[in-house]
Amino acid sequence: MTSLPNSLRNQPDLSGHFGAFGGRYVAETLMPILLDLDRAYRAARQDPTFARQLDELMTHYVGRPSPLYHAERLTAAFRDRLPCGTGPKIYFKREELNHTGAHKINNCIGQVLLAMRMGKTRIIAETGAGQHGVATATVAARFGLPCTIFMGARDIARQQPNVFRMKLLGADVVPVTSGAQTLKDAMNEALRDWVSNVDDTFYIIGTAAGPHPYPEMVRDFQSVIGFEARAQILAAEGRLPDLLVASVGGGSNAIGLFHPFLDDAEVAMLGIEAAGHGLHTAQHAASLSGGLPGILHGNRTYLLQDEDGQISEAHSISAGLDYPGIGPEHSWLHDVGRVHYAGVTDVEALAGFQLCCRTEGIIPALECAHAIAGLSDVAGDYRQDQIAILNLSGRGDKDIFTVAEALGETL
Ligand SMILES: *Cc1c(COP(=O)(O)O)cnc(C)c1O
Repeated sequence: MTSLPNSLRNQPDLSGHFGAFGGRYVAETLMPILLDLDRAYRAARQDPTFARQLDELMTHYVGRPSPLYHAERLTAAFRDRLPCGTGPKIYFKREELNHTGAHKINNCIGQVLLAMRMGKTRIIAETGAGQHGVATATVAARFGLPCTIFMGARDIARQQPNVFRMKLLGADVVPVTSGAQTLKDAMNEALRDWVSNVDDTFYIIGTAAGPHPYPEMVRDFQSVIGFEARAQILAAEGRLPDLLVASVGGGSNAIGLFHPFLDDAEVAMLGIEAAGHGLHTAQHAASLSGGLPGILHGNRTYLLQDEDGQISEAHSISAGLDYPGIGPEHSWLHDVGRVHYAGVTDVEALAGFQLCCRTEGIIPALECAHAIAGLSDVAGDYRQDQIAILNLSGRGDKDIFTVAEALGETL
């Protein structure tokens, strides 16, 4: 696609800003590392060898392209309870079929190739629920690189199966006992490790957040989702979709789907944040709907914070959505009005989860169950001859214990 002068796809600027968001708010010790990374990333992007390596692994290791699938029975289930003639035709972008069961591997493959290009011999990452930790440990094992994963001590206690997966893959899982002992603290600790081990270490950030160039780089690696979906829907329907829907934690699967369509004015976009117990409570993870701009993890973006500017703990039934911030590009797309963001509660997500299981024979991750519930809320605004693409970002095997507990069943 050509780059238009006024394109919404031209962000960020050279200093990493998406409008008033993003940037590089870090200690001066980190600046040379980030500038180095930026140069290496830009060189890699121009290099056909890098593109070939990436493409090869995406095809044969990750299993791309992921299918674009007509979710016929979910479409019918929505139409059954909507006014006559409404309810769009729904397609799923099947990221849950990727190796390791979610979209996170797309980004990890890109960053590990970059790490090797830069001559780095050690990989570090942060993880909350453990999904990004597992994807990082996977690529580190694939390339024989030692790997350290920082994880909050509380999350370690809650996510034992993923902790064990990382260990099986050869990673060292380091418990973080500062702060609330969750994702935010794990990311702080990973940044600290990086500063002291710059020479040999590469930090693989798991979502489209962090200091520049991470939000841009992660978005670019995840944009394979949107580029494939664009070609697939043109092949299937001969036209672009009317609506794109994705769940938003840090925002990487959503920006990956949205970005290649940003300049197509006829395509509406809906990002679904986790509203937890409800936006009127303190227990949610909706940074845009319930937060204010501030600075965390090296960038300016919407954050959940109290009156003193202290970062609040996020809550969601979905561990992958409970980050108190959001990628800076989403903050900008929210402020300029290009993407609409809405919240879905734990209870609504659970209903979306069950509906997907029973109508499509697909157990979705709780993260994308939020997107299903969000689509259900707006489906009545679309005619039956309109098309919606929903990013099925991951599979739900990891969530069955959480779901069982929420449904009052003991396994
Ligand atoms: C981690 C995760 C998310 C949330 O992260 P984003 O960066 O917002 O995409 C969503 N879905 C699944 C399946 C995940 O594992």
